[in-house]
Amino acid sequence: MQHDDFVRFWGVRGSIPTPGPETQNVGGNTSCVEVQLAGQRVIFDAGSGLRQLGVQQGGMPMVATMLFSHLHWDHIQGLPFFAPLYHPQSALVLRGAEGLCHALTKQMSGPTFPVGMEIFNAALEMSPLQAGMRFSIGRVQVETCALNHPGGSIAYRLSAAGKSLVYACDHEHPADGKLPPGLLRLCLGADLLIYDAQYLPEEMESKRGWGHSTYVEGARLAQAAGAKHLLLTHHDPARSDKAMAEIEHRAGQLFSGAQVAREGLRLPLSSCGPATEREHALEATLS
Ligand SMILES: [Zn+2]
Ligand SMILES: [Zn+2]
Repeated sequence: MQHDDFVRFWGVRGSIPTPGPETQNVGGNTSCVEVQLAGQRVIFDAGSGLRQLGVQQGGMPMVATMLFSHLHWDHIQGLPFFAPLYHPQSALVLRGAEGLCHALTKQMSGPTFPVGMEIFNAALEMSPLQAGMRFSIGRVQVETCALNHPGGSIAYRLSAAGKSLVYACDHEHPADGKLPPGLLRLCLGADLLIYDAQYLPEEMESKRGWGHSTYVEGARLAQAAGAKHLLLTHHDPARSDKAMAEIEHRAGQLFSGAQVAREGLRLPLSSCGPATEREHALEATLS
């Protein structure tokens, strides 16, 4: 494992950006997670958090692979504002379900957007994939599985140099209480599981069909799969920082490696593990 392997959260909110004083601690930008692993830069989803990742690049070109869970607005809306796409020396590979190219092109067209994708100067490769496929990005092995979400969503597992992480967003857990076997297999022994926990268990009855899960299900899955660390994400737009603190407290009682993902959280993959060791590493890296 390389010393600089890490995960960094640029957007942790579900559905719609929610800036404002009530969300400033956890963050209001929609889904975007950066991973540095075995010399590869991988970006999960292109929600509004992607913009700030581009800003951080400081005008330099970027070489990265972007993996899309699916094509709902909150997972693609940051793309037009991602500065590296305007740099002629950037090279970006975009991978997601069938329809990726169409959805991204449509997003940047009239009457809802002023300029088209031809405005980008980067070398851009779009390559569709299907849930269940395996492939590699350099030395990083990628495994995928289908999630339960309206229109479909794809979970990804990245593994390299003895480290592994799973990104499972957006996903509605089965109502019968069974853990989905494909997802459970994908998560087995992972160092880190990033999981959709938009709703509270008590909200599920009225939210069935919207395609999201809870911190309780995240903790159950992490436990059953033997994952070391759980980061809950895709927070509901209505959830204040105060409410998120309560969720973190409750989740921590169910699974000691559970934590709420916050915008700006940078987690070295070497620090994934039981809470005591982790807290020290996290304190040092929160920004
Ligand atoms: Zn979403
Ligand atoms: Zn969605």
